[in-house]
Amino acid sequence: MGSTDAGSEQSANPSQSICVGCGLCCDGTLLSHLAVSDESDLGMPLRAMGVSLLFAADPPVFELPCPAVETGVCTIHHLHRPHACSLYECALSRSVIAGDVDADTARAIITTTLATRRRVGEGGAGPEELESLLDTHFRGSI
Ligand code: SF4
Ligand code: SF4
Repeated sequence: MGSTDAGSEQSANPSQSICVGCGLCCDGTLLSHLAVSDESDLGMPLRAMGVSLLFAADPPVFELPCPAVETGVCTIHHLHRPHACSLYECALSRSVIAGDVDADTARAIITTTLATRRRVGEGGAGPEELESLLDTHFRGSI
């Protein structure tokens, strides 16, 4: 989601460029749900992909992984996305914006995290190793 988007946009803003190819906040790794205000906020592109809202929550949410994320990139970025997608910033993204972490370091952290997730999936690492990286770099506050 990035400083501007769940996992996926590129511009002159360094905090945005680190999101390209990450997508950890879109694919269910970092977050389990995203809140929206209503169906129109969810938008047609996601509805067409079969995403529906869970109205038991207040505000309503939709479940992640989002079907629009592919290899860490939001495939509907040029179309309508929920407002939350354009607002979300993980701790790493905020650190880059604040100038506390440079973009190359942030990308290295993302690469390590993605590799760890892959190893967890293959049984070569425990889930606690991934959770530790997520807690330290993505969920922490600056
Ligand atoms: S987890 Fe952070 S760095 Fe990765 S796409 Fe989301 S906002 Fe960007
Ligand atoms: S629509 Fe889906 S893939 Fe795109 S930014 Fe939002 S959560 Fe991420």
